[in-house]
Amino acid sequence: MLPQRLMEGYGAYRRKARGPQRVRFAAQAREQHPETMVIGCCDSRVAPETVFDADPGELFVCRNIANLVPRSDSAMGDASVAAALEYAVLGLAVKHIVVLGHAGCGGIAAFSRRAAPLSQQNYTGRWIAGLAETEAGMPESARRQPDYSTRLEQASVATSLANLRSYPCIDAAVEAGRLTLHGAHFDIMTGALTLYDRRTRRFVLAE
Ligand SMILES: [Zn+2]
Repeated sequence: MLPQRLMEGYGAYRRKARGPQRVRFAAQAREQHPETMVIGCCDSRVAPETVFDADPGELFVCRNIANLVPRSDSAMGDASVAAALEYAVLGLAVKHIVVLGHAGCGGIAAFSRRAAPLSQQNYTGRWIAGLAETEAGMPESARRQPDYSTRLEQASVATSLANLRSYPCIDAAVEAGRLTLHGAHFDIMTGALTLYDRRTRRFVLAE
């Protein structure tokens, strides 16, 4: 038996699926045509469907610890992000990819506060070690700032945006004008969403 909370939630979903939304649900059962892919964190508080008030079928979502996109030739050796990207771009022809970072990211905090070298013995340590590339591009002084975690969260989004271009299918789609890449950072506390401005390399509040 699933936890009671899940059974109650499923009951609510079933009532919706049988109600006025039945036609829309039935249409979605045949195929999906999402226009946007979101790369988000596994964090339970930052579900892209909730942040963007999206219905089933609207977002193609890939979530991982700290919403990282490794380079296509990365030693992190993760094929799941690459496969999701490939399917989104070549299979679904999404028009947008959004890398969605967030405030209070546990994965990024763990990396930024590390007292000892990260353990290579567990999966989490190996995965978030991928943030070293981002950290190396930040000024040394940034590490002593109280908001270092936030800066790393945002810089990591910018790194992931650059890394997306290392996938030939994504680079080709962007060059052809079929695909646009976006960076965003969500503040759980205030609900504020900021968007990455490539020109100024800053995050600005979304209108
Ligand atoms: Zn996170």
